[in-house]
Amino acid sequence: MKLSSWMVHTPGEPMLQEDREERAGPGEVLVEVAGCGVCHTDLGFFYDGVRTRHPLPLCLGHEVSGTVVEAGPAAESWLGRSVIIPAVIPCGECDACRAGHGSICPDQIFPGCDVHGGFSTHIKVPAKGLCPVPDLSDPSINVTGLELAALSVIADAVSTPYQAIRRSGLQTGDLAIFVGVGGVGGFGAQIDAAEGAHVVALDVDENKLSALSKHGISLGLRPDELDAKELKTRVRAFAKEHDIPSFRQKIFETSGTTAGQATAFRLLGPGGYLGVVGFTPETVELRLSNLMAFDAVAQGNWGCLPEHYPAVLDLVLAGDVRVTPFIEMRPMNRINETFEELRRHEISGRPVLAPEA
Ligand SMILES: [Zn+2]
Ligand SMILES: [Zn+2]
Repeated sequence: MKLSSWMVHTPGEPMLQEDREERAGPGEVLVEVAGCGVCHTDLGFFYDGVRTRHPLPLCLGHEVSGTVVEAGPAAESWLGRSVIIPAVIPCGECDACRAGHGSICPDQIFPGCDVHGGFSTHIKVPAKGLCPVPDLSDPSINVTGLELAALSVIADAVSTPYQAIRRSGLQTGDLAIFVGVGGVGGFGAQIDAAEGAHVVALDVDENKLSALSKHGISLGLRPDELDAKELKTRVRAFAKEHDIPSFRQKIFETSGTTAGQATAFRLLGPGGYLGVVGFTPETVELRLSNLMAFDAVAQGNWGCLPEHYPAVLDLVLAGDVRVTPFIEMRPMNRINETFEELRRHEISGRPVLAPEA
């Protein structure tokens, strides 16, 4: 099948739209892209020297929804179906996968890094792990006007914090603290609120905090206005008011900045939990012994296992997690300016690029 992809030849130099040819092999499908979200990981590859495993030229993009238009042998049942493609597709067969560690599968496929990604009219991926999307016009779906393209953000921005939340063991009535509520953290905050947690969000952007105040966060704090000690005092006062001990406080670092990492670490108390979800190549100085002294846990998180995707999709279809107000749909031919604007923090919602009809 003929397709047209936005290719990176040299990092930082405008991506070029080029025609390619792909064919679905055994167990593979070709998905016609409805939307592909732009993630900070894409910016890392494009601007910050993070190497892709597939050599350049490469088409980036790992946050994809679309419709299966070609299926190879053993994947025919997917033909014509709407799907979300997990950002991390484990092989499902190696020792790590069989032990439940699909996130560290050495043979995993990360579109836009291991293979050509979703800034394209079509993308070729293994059928394994695809998340089927039901008919969005079905009256049983609570959210009206939801489009397949908008669901692309489930592939990473919504599912990654979901996995981090599952790992934290969060329960109803716990306190969830998000440091950074951009794309990933904002969706994480909504998931926690939907699950009955009290949610505190820290962000330097007042607009992000006020947008989320309508979607479940109880308290928004500005780390650019409060010093570290005041932040901690405010969070503690909130926890005390709601009678939540430190061992029921789950902190999620979703800013991907050293300042955010330092802040998140400082908020840890006895028996506390820190989920490290954001990424920065920079290093941060911490007194790691706090983990020992507090008998606390800090845990990283790479992507989300495909088996969790249907539950994440259900949260969105039920209206518990809203995606549409937090994304900005754009035609894919604006990809180069979108990367630039995102790098300069000029876009507040998560950009989702849709190929031109
Ligand atoms: Zn991503
Ligand atoms: Zn594997």
